[in-house]
Amino acid sequence: MADRSMSGNNLVELNNLVKHFPIRGGVFLKEVAFVKAVDGVNLTIREGETLGLVGESGCGKTTLGRLILRLEEPSSGEIHFQGENILAYDKERMRILRKQMQIVFQDPFSSLNPRKTVSHIVGEPLLVHGMQSRRAREARVLDLLRVVGLRREHMRRYPHQFSGGQRQRIGVARALALHPKLIVCDEAVSALDVSIQAQVINLLKDLQGEFGLTYLFISHDLSVVEHMSDRLAVMYLGKIVELADSVEIYRTPLHPYTQALLLASPIPDPSVKRERIILKGDVPSPIDPPQGCRFHTRCLYAEDICSREEPQLQEARKNHLAACFFAGSVGLH
Ligand code: ATP
Repeated sequence: MADRSMSGNNLVELNNLVKHFPIRGGVFLKEVAFVKAVDGVNLTIREGETLGLVGESGCGKTTLGRLILRLEEPSSGEIHFQGENILAYDKERMRILRKQMQIVFQDPFSSLNPRKTVSHIVGEPLLVHGMQSRRAREARVLDLLRVVGLRREHMRRYPHQFSGGQRQRIGVARALALHPKLIVCDEAVSALDVSIQAQVINLLKDLQGEFGLTYLFISHDLSVVEHMSDRLAVMYLGKIVELADSVEIYRTPLHPYTQALLLASPIPDPSVKRERIILKGDVPSPIDPPQGCRFHTRCLYAEDICSREEPQLQEARKNHLAACFFAGSVGLH
C-alpha cells in the first residue's frame, strides 16, 4: 500500500522502489544471483519532519538512503522529490538538485578528508557549486561553524585535532553549506558516546527548527531514533514492515519484529521492567529471503499462512501501517 493516506506536504515519495545488487561469478562474471537490498518500498517523507528508519544491520537502510539521493541507481520503481520524478533527471539537473539533498555519515573521521583543513572541508561544496570568492566562502564557513557550535580558530585545524562529537559537527556544517531541504543522517550519532549523542541530536533538532530541514534519520538503535523522530519506519530484509507516528509505535508496536526491537533496546529507567523477546538468529540472507512473510523464520507467533503468503503493508490501526497477518493481535498491545 502506498503511504499516501497520511496528510502533510510530501518532500520525497518512493513508489515500489527496488535495488537488487548483482552478484557475479564464473569465468565470464555473469550475474549469478542478486542481493535484494531494497525490495519494493513505498514511503513518503513529509516536508519538515524527521522520519526515523530503523532495522537490524543489513536490512537495507543505507541503500534506501543512498537511492533517495541517487548515489545508487534503483533497479526499478520511482523517486519523486518535491513532486518531480528525479529518475528522469540528467547528470546536470541532478548536480543542481543535490544542493537540496545532503548526507551525514556515521563515521565522521573516515568521511572527512584528513589532509584538508576544516575551512576547506566545509567550504568545498560552496566552491563546487560556484562560490569562487575565497573571502565569501570563508565568511560562509565561519557562519556555518558558529551555527554548529564551533569557533573561528577551528577553521585552520585538521579533522584529527577534533573529538568525535566535534567531527560530527563539522560533517553537519558541511551538509548545511548549500541550504539543503533534506538531510539523510545515516547512523549519524551511532559512533558517539551517549552524552555526545544527546548533544548532536539536540543540535540537529535546533537546526531543523531554524532552517526548516527534513531528516531521514537512519539508525539500528531504536532508543536513539525515539528522541529524534516524528514518524518511524521499520525495515526488515528490504521491506518496510511498520510505519506510524513514533509515539504510536512506541506505545503500540503492532509488528512482532518491531516489538522485538523495542524490547531489545535499553530502558533508561531501571525501575521499569520489560519482558524480553529475544530475536532468534541472524537476519536471513537478502539473496534468498524467506517465502511468505520474510520475518516468519524468526517470529514467535508465525502460523502456516505466514510461510505461504506475503502480508502487505496496510492500515492496521488509524494512520498505522503494518505488514503482518496478525498485526495487533499478538505480542504487546
Ligand atoms: P548497516 O547498518 O550494516 O549498513 P543496512 O540496513 O544499512 O545495514 P545496507 O548497507 O543497505 O543495510 O545493505 C543491505 C544489503 O545489501 C546487505 O546485505 C549488503 O551486504 C548489501 N549491499 C549493500 N551495498 C552493496 C553493493 N554495493 N553490492 C552488493 N551488495 C550490497
